[in-house]
Amino acid sequence: MITTQDAEFPEVGFSPKVKEFISSSKQMLVDGKWVDAASGKTFPVYNPASGEEIVQVAEGDKEDIERAVSAARNSFDKGLWRRLTPSERGKIIWKIGDLIAEHAEEFAELESIDNGKPKAVASVADLPLAIDLFHYMAGWATKIEGNTIPISMPGSYHAYTMREPVGVVGQIIPWNFPLLMAAWKLGPVLTTGNSVILKPAEQTPLSALRLGELLAEAGVPDGVVNIVPGYGEAGAALAAHDGVDKVAFTGSTEVGKLIVQAAAGNLKKVTLELGGKSPNVLYKDVPDLSVAIEGAANAIFFNHGQCCCAGSRLYVEDDVFDDVLNGVAEHAKKIKVGPGLADDTEMGPLVSDEQLDRVCGYMASGVEQGAQQVAGGNRLGSSGYFVQPTVYTNTNQDMKIVKEEIFGPVVVVEPFKEGDPLIQHANDSNYGLAAAVWTSDISKAHRTAAELRAGTVWINCYNVFDAALPFGGYKESGWGREMGHEVLNNYTETKAVVVAL
Ligand code: NAP
Ligand code: MG
Repeated sequence: MITTQDAEFPEVGFSPKVKEFISSSKQMLVDGKWVDAASGKTFPVYNPASGEEIVQVAEGDKEDIERAVSAARNSFDKGLWRRLTPSERGKIIWKIGDLIAEHAEEFAELESIDNGKPKAVASVADLPLAIDLFHYMAGWATKIEGNTIPISMPGSYHAYTMREPVGVVGQIIPWNFPLLMAAWKLGPVLTTGNSVILKPAEQTPLSALRLGELLAEAGVPDGVVNIVPGYGEAGAALAAHDGVDKVAFTGSTEVGKLIVQAAAGNLKKVTLELGGKSPNVLYKDVPDLSVAIEGAANAIFFNHGQCCCAGSRLYVEDDVFDDVLNGVAEHAKKIKVGPGLADDTEMGPLVSDEQLDRVCGYMASGVEQGAQQVAGGNRLGSSGYFVQPTVYTNTNQDMKIVKEEIFGPVVVVEPFKEGDPLIQHANDSNYGLAAAVWTSDISKAHRTAAELRAGTVWINCYNVFDAALPFGGYKESGWGREMGHEVLNNYTETKAVVVAL
């Protein structure tokens, strides 16, 4: 049984800028204009710290997607963006990064009231990463090159390849890092010269809409970026639309599979960044146990566990098991949970009442299936969507809390000893997004990294991200890679040109 622990949270008011932004209902961005939904419908956006409505937002559906696709198609066909010189495109993308930086304070607050995360965390994580992503991608605009290719046909030929934009792209992003996910998607799609329809998550559309206001100022032509907030209906229409050449989705594996089916109609290209249940392997010979304990705790509790790469399965070698279990549990108990706008908050509420129910459901199932609760395990307060950072042990590979993605601040800690099929356990998941290994034995570190079936492996660290590093999943964690130069492949077609000389 999940109980609700009493908790008093301070009320913190919004800044004048944010108050102004949410003072009237928000529209969608189509063809460079802010417009209502064709249906006139709006949906509410809630503050997860209070459960109260913040503002109403235009609810896009099929008809709005239709309008946005035709605006994107028009801007693409006319070459409003793709025919700018690479250097001009690069400068505009760089400027987007600069404009976000100029408004960083406001963005951090919007992320906090929309998603629940502490404003202080958004300021040091989401914001700098988003700004850096645009700056990094700006640099690629001038470096998208083909090859000259010697061919062996009899006769005399000159053959070369070119990389061209894929065309009109639909992008559907999640609520866990609203602005950063918009950056991960928009940066590379723009660098490569495409036009785009972005659908932010219905839970957290505000920062993407604010970003939309800055795009024209940066110099992005009308119709190149269209932003259509809405529910799954809008996403489904985008994924199915014949006028869309490619769809990129980040979210659950379940919806990822629906996207693939919807895309089959015109065989649009698909890339997916989906869920995870990432193993975090801690050997007894870690360089510094207290650093490793802190690292293992942050691996799960960062962003309230609402990270696709959260280190949610912690495997610890038996000699240090008790120390690590107790250390992570102590860390969990000390985390200051509260509203994201309070200065001393270390962990905010979950994003929505739906996530609250999901996470509490998993906690209840853990206890039911015989896991031992070492920290947390309850809801906090009865308004807002707060839960305690939670640690379980005495788990086994068949429990739901070990197998399924919880997407909340819940970790399972299991011991292993030399000779156990550790790698087999770590890889025993339909997911393969990320993993980590902690050890001072350099050979063991690299051996383990090679054996873990995951798109990212961290050694003696966790959650280290960089715009230059590719990120994405093996197995059911996705198709393709975000960031780095690899992401450019997601948004370009290769054309081979052969000239008879
Ligand atoms: P979700 O179910 O994947 O939904 C993501 C978005 O896709 C929502 O806007 C959803 O709208 C929409 N959608 C639903 N059906 C669709 C369809 N047939 N075609 C196109 N779009 C569709 O994510 P969620 O409900 O927000 O969260 C559920 C779980 O997803 C989490 O607990 C977590 O496990 C995972 N998740 C993963 C990530 C990640 O970064 N990989 C991020 C967020 C969530 P509706 O809400 O109207 O259905
Ligand atoms: Mg959903």
